[in-house]
Amino acid sequence: MKQNMKDMNKEELETFFKNMGEPIFRAKQVFSWMYRGAFSFEEMTNLPKHLREKLDCDAQIKYLDIRKKQVSEKDGTRKYLFGLLDGNAIETVYMQYKHGNSICISSQAGCRMGCRFCASTANGLQRNLTAGEMVDQILMVEKDTASKISNVVVMGTGEPFDNYENLCRFIELIHDKDGLNIGLRNITVSTCGIIPKIKEFSMDFPQVNLAVSLHAADEHARNQLMPINQRYPMEELLQACRDYAKKTGRRITFEYTLVAGVNDTPKHAQQLRSKLSGILCHVNLIPLNTVSENNWRGTKRALAGQFAEILGQKGIPVTIRRELGSDISAACGQLRLNQK
Ligand code: SAH
Repeated sequence: MKQNMKDMNKEELETFFKNMGEPIFRAKQVFSWMYRGAFSFEEMTNLPKHLREKLDCDAQIKYLDIRKKQVSEKDGTRKYLFGLLDGNAIETVYMQYKHGNSICISSQAGCRMGCRFCASTANGLQRNLTAGEMVDQILMVEKDTASKISNVVVMGTGEPFDNYENLCRFIELIHDKDGLNIGLRNITVSTCGIIPKIKEFSMDFPQVNLAVSLHAADEHARNQLMPINQRYPMEELLQACRDYAKKTGRRITFEYTLVAGVNDTPKHAQQLRSKLSGILCHVNLIPLNTVSENNWRGTKRALAGQFAEILGQKGIPVTIRRELGSDISAACGQLRLNQK
């Protein structure tokens, strides 16, 4: 079996080279090549040829290939469908903002959380992504766009807290100054609400931004939309969020997908407002992207505005997600689902 080199941190790479009988400075050389965008050992010209050939037999550093790419003519947003070495596929989105380039990466192939409105979960979980496969989404996109990524959100396919160890390793690798040197405050992880991991994360990475998918303002409604609520009920989740904010001093983002007629009335907004009162937070309203698997529709922009206003009246900071790439708007997870 070939070793996956992008799963390794610098210390592990040093051990790898030591075991090969090579000087350990090779670790730093290879690490630096990988994060400067080399996808083959061939390119690592300061390594002796015999070593490059040996590495080629023993190890691999490229895990993705572009199966499909959509580029928005309006704003440059790009959606990628990447094939993994085992034939699975994942999606990645690249967005350009004034403050820099942002990427939305997947943490799993598929997902087992079962949120009713989400296409990524339709065929269940195939498998966890390795840290290297998460890193490679960034490196592939940097190469394809010839640009540098400054912000990373883990909000693509999968539940990052269901793949916790690899997620943590990924964050360490991209934060490493010899890796991608991405600031912890420029990284956001989004969870459907796995309470024990929220606590763990607040200790492991207090500086990384946390987003929590709430999507409802009472237990019953949340049970309907998100099966995970039966395991980790909303009231307990909100308590965990209060504790998180207190411990880290960081503002949590609550994501709230607006589904027409289901959770988007003024009454829902008032209910949400009272549930969130006293929590250091920000609400991001996301009009549902229609997925063909169900009949739900997204809330119209004007109604979303009213919903936002109700929250804003009590001082809760709220934004409605700006639509990027609307001309390529295969909804979340749709590229992957529709491939054949
Ligand atoms: N599992 C994590 C991260 C991936 S989903 C989580 O649940 O947070 C990223 C966000 O997109 C979540 O808030 C999710 O609920 C939302 N989402 C999924 N399908 C959607 C759809 N069809 N329309 C709008 N938002 C959707």
